[in-house]
Amino acid sequence: MQPRAPSKTPADRKDGRHVKANDIPPQGVYLPNNNIMAPHMKSPEYVQLSTAAAITLGIMGGRMYRCACTRCLNLLLTYPEGCRANCAYCGLARHREADRDYADRNFIRVDWPAVPMAEIIDIVARDPENSPFHRMCISMITHPRSEDDTFTVLKQWTDKIDPSAIPVSILSNPTTMTRDDVQKTKDLGADIFTVALDAATPDLFDRTRGKGVQSPHKWSKYWDIMLEARDIFGPQKFGAHIIVGMGESEHEALQLVQDIVELGGHSHMFCFFPEQGSLMDHLPATPRDQWRRVQLARYLIDYRDVRVDQMKFDELGQVLDYGVSEVELADIVNEGIAFRTSGCPGKFQDDVSACDRPYGDSPPSDIASFPFQPVKKDIKEIRKQLKIPVRSG
Ligand code: SF4
Repeated sequence: MQPRAPSKTPADRKDGRHVKANDIPPQGVYLPNNNIMAPHMKSPEYVQLSTAAAITLGIMGGRMYRCACTRCLNLLLTYPEGCRANCAYCGLARHREADRDYADRNFIRVDWPAVPMAEIIDIVARDPENSPFHRMCISMITHPRSEDDTFTVLKQWTDKIDPSAIPVSILSNPTTMTRDDVQKTKDLGADIFTVALDAATPDLFDRTRGKGVQSPHKWSKYWDIMLEARDIFGPQKFGAHIIVGMGESEHEALQLVQDIVELGGHSHMFCFFPEQGSLMDHLPATPRDQWRRVQLARYLIDYRDVRVDQMKFDELGQVLDYGVSEVELADIVNEGIAFRTSGCPGKFQDDVSACDRPYGDSPPSDIASFPFQPVKKDIKEIRKQLKIPVRSG
């Protein structure tokens, strides 16, 4: 799973120069590929939001396969020069400035329209109690302005919308953050603080989002900020994102899940999918059997008090035994929650994520994380993918 080398960025496209050379004022909602180079379309006045959130908010038309709406309003800070990091699996990475303006880049498989923050708040503030959204999340990206702009966006939101009606999560950018910054997000009303470790081991981290791809991130700094968040936000209110299938073993991914549980946090897992335009777009998506095993085992560790050392692994680190009885395992598989998208909780129950990110880690034709409750035919397919004899219960 070796990332390809980035191509050279022509000087006139570096740091968003190509966009900044224009002086076109932004006008309301910007849909990706409008190709209007509006250099002032930036946070905190503007944010980008997922296609699913834009459809749910009524800003964009469209329908989502087997989903009525998304429960999480995922926001992304936005700047003409974009994210300054270069993570190999990410559609927002810096190297893409060579061929695509920031506002037009795909991220976790979808487009992210840019919308004035005030417009989003106006719509949601009309009736937060009955909003389809169970949570709002600010993704910080790597940019010198991202802390200050996160504080502003968060404050604008909590000034108008009671965070107990729609709680807020921060998907942080540890590289540029201090303990005081973490504290400030809490003081301004954030409920959960997460770090996107993404890579499951220090070596993989370095290769995919550190020195290996001329990106500024360091594993140790991510851990420092996660531990600050643990201290400040408390148990069950912090966690880490992990992408499965970038070269780690199943045991390595699950040991990380266990480590985070022992600290009192949760892990939110994605299945690796080769994002178009990223430095890993030539690599295969995680095989479904591998993904399902890790997904199931992560659920057992995170929500059913099973420990990784109760599980059995082969010499390659592949799960052989989940450490629970066959009957219990069959019940959990049949219940289906283990295979839903993982993330910060919504209003239904603790193990059901508000953040359902529809089809962020797979196409709808071969679902990795289910953005809805899997039904009988889905469970049948999951059992096949698990390649383990599971009683039908
Ligand atoms: S820091 Fe986040 S948004 Fe930026 S390239 Fe890395 S994964 Fe993508």
